[in-house]
Amino acid sequence: MANFQVLHQDSSSAARLGMLHTAHGQIETPVFMPVGTGGAVKGITPYHLKETGASIILANTYHLLLRPGVETIEKLGGLHKFMAWDRPILTDSGGYQVFSLSPLTKIDDDGVEFASHVDGAKIYLNAEIATEIQNRLAVDIIMCLDQCTPFGVDAPQLEKAVERTILWAKRCKKAHNRPNQMLFAIIQGGINQELRTYCAQELVKTGFDGYAIGGLSVGEGHDEMVKTVRHTMTFLPADKPRYLMGVGTPEDIITAVMAGIDMFDCVLPTRNGRNAFAFTENGPLRLRNNTHIEDSRPIEAGCDCYCCRNFSRGTLRHFFNIGEMLGPILVSVHNLTFYQRLMAKIRQAIKANNFAERAKELIMNY
Ligand SMILES: [Zn+2]
Repeated sequence: MANFQVLHQDSSSAARLGMLHTAHGQIETPVFMPVGTGGAVKGITPYHLKETGASIILANTYHLLLRPGVETIEKLGGLHKFMAWDRPILTDSGGYQVFSLSPLTKIDDDGVEFASHVDGAKIYLNAEIATEIQNRLAVDIIMCLDQCTPFGVDAPQLEKAVERTILWAKRCKKAHNRPNQMLFAIIQGGINQELRTYCAQELVKTGFDGYAIGGLSVGEGHDEMVKTVRHTMTFLPADKPRYLMGVGTPEDIITAVMAGIDMFDCVLPTRNGRNAFAFTENGPLRLRNNTHIEDSRPIEAGCDCYCCRNFSRGTLRHFFNIGEMLGPILVSVHNLTFYQRLMAKIRQAIKANNFAERAKELIMNY
């Protein structure tokens, strides 16, 4: 059976409903993947993570590679056991963090040498090594090593990064050596449409289990992001999953689903949760504000998350006021639940063939 099926195509937009089949279970798409940077979704037990409705999570190869190292994770029984998470996991290749967190020491067509941001140790990563590491982590979906460029980089540099991304993806495919594990390629090219076209066409020619759009949400703004996604989508096969990396706000996600994206990951629900910023259907709530001191209402009326079932805005405001760790944990639980509920509403609207209309409503209320 194919790894991915499109179950229904919305008649009012390019949005579609799909099912991803993995070794650790099925995933309904469009899907949102919480980010488990250091082997955990910050502050959230797998028990609560499941209760938020998460069907798949993302783990960062770069962070796990530095600490505790792949060998240690293998000795502890693989990444699923290590994280106590028995549902699907996707790992990124480490490329994004190498290029955004580490002082680079050397990059050429073979690979990249970087200094660990933890202790300065020199580490070498190339297509074969990135693939082997992800094979050994025994996750469900792995990503090709790509070269990420910062927003606004000049054309020759962008072109070089696209060439390397294509070259490395081909080598990743060759090196990929784990059955039951899907390999996704990443399309780069900044907001340059010609380069996006070229990169997408070359990768589709090579053939992968799925295609990701990388290098967005890095400062180009919502409109450029949407323009680039819409453009790139036209070159991707309809029968493969499409993943928009690192995006984003509820508005970004709704708009990208409308363009035909199936998968998302983003640190916003947890990062904002730790900063007392709660997502609600009617826009954000800042829980540090004094207006919440004696507010007995939950963050969001009708929300069935653990936080809203048990805690008032007043209690949460107090936790943040005194630096109690339960505050960030509870608001992260709510935000993750909010994102999963948003995706469920999106899937529901696609099923009902009125996503374009519902999308407008959702964005307007927010
Ligand atoms: Zn809630």
